[in-house]
Amino acid sequence: MKRCYMCDHPINSKQDLYRWLKCDSLLCGACLRKLIPLRKTYQHQGMKLHVLYAYNEFIENMLFQYKEGLDTELRFCFLHEDRRYIEKRYKGHTLALMPSSKEKTQARGFHALAEMSNVLRLKKIQPFYKTEDRKQSSLNYEQRLQIGEIIRLDATKTLLKKKLVLFDDVCTSGATLTKAYELLKQENIVAEALVLCAHPLFIQNHT
Ligand SMILES: [Zn+2]
Repeated sequence: MKRCYMCDHPINSKQDLYRWLKCDSLLCGACLRKLIPLRKTYQHQGMKLHVLYAYNEFIENMLFQYKEGLDTELRFCFLHEDRRYIEKRYKGHTLALMPSSKEKTQARGFHALAEMSNVLRLKKIQPFYKTEDRKQSSLNYEQRLQIGEIIRLDATKTLLKKKLVLFDDVCTSGATLTKAYELLKQENIVAEALVLCAHPLFIQNHT
């Protein structure tokens, strides 16, 4: 019997009829109901940003279990329910993954964002890199606000003529995405952005 990737209950427990019949869920009904789907587009500093879910405790726990608990199987879950929707919406686009710190990727042994987005049948590239690998926790508040400043763009030639969608898991202030958007704009490349989830405050400030 298939079990929920998150809580280990039988997959069909509390499942709605549609998903029960479809039989391809990775989360049980109770876990799925803890997600807050949005599928909304916001304008953020000139950038079109599409948000799949509102950030809440459940998604926070899921990301923590995945990234810090190294529960790599969860990589399949995050975009599973939205994969066809995303593929249709961004048909012909290339996902430009937001950079993660080399330190963290090495410590984990996997690139969290790349693994998560692998369920999508879209091209993916990693055109950005971070100039410093400081842990966010070691930064003070002012430095954290500047976090958007330390990403750089690599190999712009390969980006021309591509329809790009910046992709990240969590949008808090939108600073890093804005920085990436600006770096591309300087090269005359206009990108859209897609995030798994956005903080309630971000959503509140943009509606
Ligand atoms: Zn569950």
